[in-house]
Amino acid sequence: MIIEKIEELKKELRKNRQENRTVGFVPTMGYLHKGHLSLIEKAKEENDIVVISIFVNPTQFAPNEDFESYPRDLKRDSELAYQSGADIIFHPSVEEMYPRDSSTFVEVTGQITQVLCGKSRPTHFRGVTTVVNMLFNIVEPYKAYFGQKDAQQVAVLQKMVTDLHMNVELVVCPIVREEDGLAMSSRNIYLSEEERKQALVLNQSLREAEKLYKNGERETKVLKQYITEKIATMPLAVIDYVSIYEYPSLKETQILSYQCLIAVAVKFGKTRLIDNVIIG
Ligand code: AMP
Repeated sequence: MIIEKIEELKKELRKNRQENRTVGFVPTMGYLHKGHLSLIEKAKEENDIVVISIFVNPTQFAPNEDFESYPRDLKRDSELAYQSGADIIFHPSVEEMYPRDSSTFVEVTGQITQVLCGKSRPTHFRGVTTVVNMLFNIVEPYKAYFGQKDAQQVAVLQKMVTDLHMNVELVVCPIVREEDGLAMSSRNIYLSEEERKQALVLNQSLREAEKLYKNGERETKVLKQYITEKIATMPLAVIDYVSIYEYPSLKETQILSYQCLIAVAVKFGKTRLIDNVIIG
């Protein structure tokens, strides 16, 4: 069932809750791939009803970013979502989510939203936390499913849920990759053949850094330099960041002693790709 109106979705879910059915929720921007589908499958395992939202959220895109051109294909998405176990697809319009007089934002402040993607995309996380908050208020899920692919997003959303005492459990699912290691992303379709080939360096350099860590390397500087040099061997790669932080706090660290996130963001042509690994 595809629902476009907030009130209609609330009504449908109220019915389900009255019958004591648990609701699992998977927020997405659509153009689904196996990464999204793994979240739907996990949600289906753990809940009676699975709601997936497909909404390209304008407030998380800066004016110079790809909001307009972001790939959209509801027909294909709905088929894939149903096959993976989704019961309800929530597909609201921008006007439905943000009526003209809407002026409220939810913002997680501090280092956690200022580093990594928060540095290159300063209004991004405010848009994410605002829309996820709205979606949680509409769906009132028992559990909500997110991918480790967006590791900072998970850390920020968990902080929001904790700080605001929200009644939802976040479930984090592993990164799903193409056979050759490229992390799945709706934006991969933007890549030219050559860019796609060179983009493999993201996962490769992270795997090698992980190996160095396993062999005893503990200096973040050394690992960052290793990854940076490896990525720089690809002529089409333009590095946005290669960073290591304690995870999930995203505090600075010189020496890897706690659980840490190694995260990279690299542009190939117009396409900005991210990838990460958690070590420790
Ligand atoms: P998006 O549609 O890009 O906003 O992503 C929706 C959800 O799918 C987010 O929780 C992402 O972290 C997750 N996701 C995206 N790509 C992957 C992937 N390759 N593996 C696992 N989860 C993913």
